[in-house]
Amino acid sequence: MTDQNPKKEWGLCVDCQNWQIELNAIATHQTAGLCLAAALRPFRLRVTGNSGCQEFHRGPTARGAGSNLKPPPIPGNVPPSGPPAAT
Ligand code: SF4
Repeated sequence: MTDQNPKKEWGLCVDCQNWQIELNAIATHQTAGLCLAAALRPFRLRVTGNSGCQEFHRGPTARGAGSNLKPPPIPGNVPPSGPPAAT
């Protein structure tokens, strides 16, 4: 896969294809979602639309259930329903 941002230009999450929000959420600067960038996945980073970084890749927003949870699910794992049970 080629790097779509070889100059590592900074961009907003709201315009980034690595930004995953809830299935029916409206993408705004205040919407919270999960960052799917490979370099940031280990951190389960929850970011709003007006956050941003140099892993930015312009493209359509990803969708996934649980994307606005605190903490969000591990990327690729979808919670059965509602927030995870307290431990
Ligand atoms: S933190 Fe960076 S890579 Fe992740 S969604 Fe936002 S702009 Fe994209």
